[in-house]
Amino acid sequence: MPRPRQKSKIQSPPRAKAFMPVGYYKQQSDAIQLKIEEFEVFRLLDYEGLTQVEAAKIMQISRSGVARIYEKARFKLAKALTEAKKINIEGGENMFDNNWFECERCDSKFNSTDESKIGACPLCSSQNIHQINE
Ligand SMILES: [Zn+2]
Repeated sequence: MPRPRQKSKIQSPPRAKAFMPVGYYKQQSDAIQLKIEEFEVFRLLDYEGLTQVEAAKIMQISRSGVARIYEKARFKLAKALTEAKKINIEGGENMFDNNWFECERCDSKFNSTDESKIGACPLCSSQNIHQINE
């Protein structure tokens, strides 16, 4: 029986949902799918400079889980940069630190500590939003 996947705790969603190469290769249709937990591990280790043990505590997964996700993230990013591929950041098994919402119209993700302010997308003002975590 396959081991149930660990849910990674994410401090905040990525600021962008995708990155596009500029130039000839942007015509390529296939994109790299970077999972949100892969982005988070990469961010914690290489941007924040944390150790794998520290990242594991924050994400509430095992150290070996962090190492496994990190390896995947680095390979995907190296492949995207080398082959000039678009990077989509989406999906995975995650939970967020706060209540996060996603706009149905522009796909932006946002949260607020003030519940009364969550009625519309801060970017496009659409009221067509839904909660992406509990
Ligand atoms: Zn919006």
